[in-house]
Amino acid sequence: MIAINDLKRDEISELMSQLEQPAYRATQICDWLFRKRATSFDQMTNLPLNLGKHLAENYTIKLVELEEEVVSPEDGATKYLLRLHDGGYIESVFLPHQRGATLCISFQVGCAFRCRFCATGRMGLTRNLSPGEIVDQVNFVRFYLAESNPAEAGRGQPTRPFTNVVFMGMGEPLANFENVVKAIEIMIQEVGIGSRHITVSTCAIPEKIVELAQLPYEIKLAISLNSPSDQSRREIMPEAAKFSISEVLSAARYYYSKKKRLLTIEYVLIADLNDSPEDAEALARLPAGLPVKINLIALNPFPGCAYRRPTARNVKKFVSLLEARGMNVTLRKSLGSDILAGCGQLGMLAQVKGKPQGG
Ligand code: SAH
Repeated sequence: MIAINDLKRDEISELMSQLEQPAYRATQICDWLFRKRATSFDQMTNLPLNLGKHLAENYTIKLVELEEEVVSPEDGATKYLLRLHDGGYIESVFLPHQRGATLCISFQVGCAFRCRFCATGRMGLTRNLSPGEIVDQVNFVRFYLAESNPAEAGRGQPTRPFTNVVFMGMGEPLANFENVVKAIEIMIQEVGIGSRHITVSTCAIPEKIVELAQLPYEIKLAISLNSPSDQSRREIMPEAAKFSISEVLSAARYYYSKKKRLLTIEYVLIADLNDSPEDAEALARLPAGLPVKINLIALNPFPGCAYRRPTARNVKKFVSLLEARGMNVTLRKSLGSDILAGCGQLGMLAQVKGKPQGG
């Protein structure tokens, strides 16, 4: 059965006109789905009974359900292990910071890219998330946090406890392109998240970056480069490195030409693999005029990870070498790493729970 919350407003409007319903029914249904997070058609009390009955017989509403919540005592980062309708699991992470908070969401169950330093990469891909499952992570967290906040009680709709949404959770967003774009459109139209507050992080599929650039949204792009040379990139990101760094950067250049938004280059520092002064020099040369911010993060190890985190001294040296070359560098503090919710650590809990999907 089709999940009605996988549909955008224009598709729901189309359905209403087929059912000979007035146009405003689409607004009512979208309100119930995306602003009130209705869990069943019974709750849609302003729809005529026969329409409610028709929808209930022909459509479902596929939402995520909380399986487990883990709060980091160190920094308040919260990981939500969420159950899908078919028994699969994904994770979303709420990341509080000084000026607000960010929600990191997933877009696939597992990942086909198998980056060797990433926990999700070890799972392999089970399936893509649907648009509704992607959007509902945002809504689940909004409503869940509002329920636990007395100041919000009694409001029809919760305020947004986070300012930004980042597609940096489980999977590769550009490998589930259509659903990710549709989810973004629903977030913009129905949930009220501006495209400038959305970041898509990719291990870099050049043709999809070009496609994303052609859409009329101001989404921020982050590219997980993780290595300044194709050779060492192949070692840590065997699938992603099928595209050369120069192909990736020319797609990024095209993206910049269309959007004029600063590109983020993400770089996970791994001891003895990509953390040498020569690597820093090579990395500094890559953008060649393209405005970028380099976002460094020291590897977050997880049980069974084959690589090591570099020493604080090496990290510092890497940062200062880039700065000396005039680069805009940030060193990302990994929030939630004590609860395995740090970057690249998602999937461990999901894997334990979702035994049948193996891994
Ligand atoms: N597939 C997408 C989005 C998911 S990964 C991508 O590659 O961007 C999100 C970010 O986490 C990426 O920048 C990735 O390089 C980083 N990451 C993965 N594993 C990590 C780990 N063990 N420690 C630190 N960062 C990691």
